[in-house]
Amino acid sequence: MQKSIERIAGDSEGVSYEFPVFRFEGFRFDGSDKAAPSAYLQAALHAGELPGVVAIDALMPMLEKAEAEGRIKGSITIVPQANPIGRAQYHFGEHQGRFHLGTRTNFNRGFPLLAAPDVELLPDTTLGTADQRLKSRLLQLSIGHDIVLDLHCDDEGLAYLYVHTSLWPAMADCAAAMGVDAVILWDEDTDGTFEGASITPYLSLPAEVARFDRRVATVEYRGILDVDGALAGADAEGLYRLLVGRGVILDQALSTPGSFTGIVAPLENIDMMPAPRAGAILYNVKPGDRVAKGALLATIVHAPGEAGGRTQVFAPQAGIILTRRSRRIIRAGEDLLKLVGDRKSADARSGTLED
Ligand SMILES: [Zn+2]
Repeated sequence: MQKSIERIAGDSEGVSYEFPVFRFEGFRFDGSDKAAPSAYLQAALHAGELPGVVAIDALMPMLEKAEAEGRIKGSITIVPQANPIGRAQYHFGEHQGRFHLGTRTNFNRGFPLLAAPDVELLPDTTLGTADQRLKSRLLQLSIGHDIVLDLHCDDEGLAYLYVHTSLWPAMADCAAAMGVDAVILWDEDTDGTFEGASITPYLSLPAEVARFDRRVATVEYRGILDVDGALAGADAEGLYRLLVGRGVILDQALSTPGSFTGIVAPLENIDMMPAPRAGAILYNVKPGDRVAKGALLATIVHAPGEAGGRTQVFAPQAGIILTRRSRRIIRAGEDLLKLVGDRKSADARSGTLED
């Protein structure tokens, strides 16, 4: 395993950012057909989302053991903390890891959507902003790998994957290996998420060149508070199973996981449930709950102690609660939860990537 340090120039003299990259070279067979797939894993692009960081921390000794035993076949590149800019952002004592404070841009938007998987096509970001330089570098590090996983988490939620429709059901074995609860399928990204920028360069290529058996996914590892040793260990085992299952690592002692039995739904089925009033949220449901159409989801206490001071929110359709907020204060129009409906949502906003 080799460790190298990436440096990203800041937006003023004397400021720069660093993050480590770990590479396991593995051995590759001769001939492209027989080449073992390679993998790229990154975590904490949204810098405060740490379940993936601790999962990678638990995964590294497993990779080092495999390397020592000569069992790594394909190269593996690991970026445990992908966003040193966001990691350093504190505003009045509160960490702000989702948006770049200098540009108000979401760290997982605005990645260049290349026409082909060729790093030569990456824009010159020398005169851009630090977050653009970071995005360009992360894409450069990841492009060309067969397996690309971007580890995020939600507020409070189940473990789930965002998967491009071209990769499903080919990725069902990966979902089973990782033990996630749900898979949300998407097919268009105009905002430039990392995942979108990783798959878009392949979409215009002939299928036999694009090889949609390659995996690109955003992993949502439950909630922001689910940073826990036992979960990290289980998630690391899931990632390891995926790498073994796809032939990046050799491990004959590992049993193959069964087929994926979780929820699979298109993005259009998600109801985001905007709050009708500002106030304190009393939830009646939690992630994983199955609800019927018309079920009480939450009560907003907007005028405490007054008659009519509570507003109830009901399920617009039957489905499963995927996520909810971790804080209980809300403004009107902010999203209360994500409901994966059995049918297409009536809300036009449901069809966008929300990671
Ligand atoms: Zn995220």
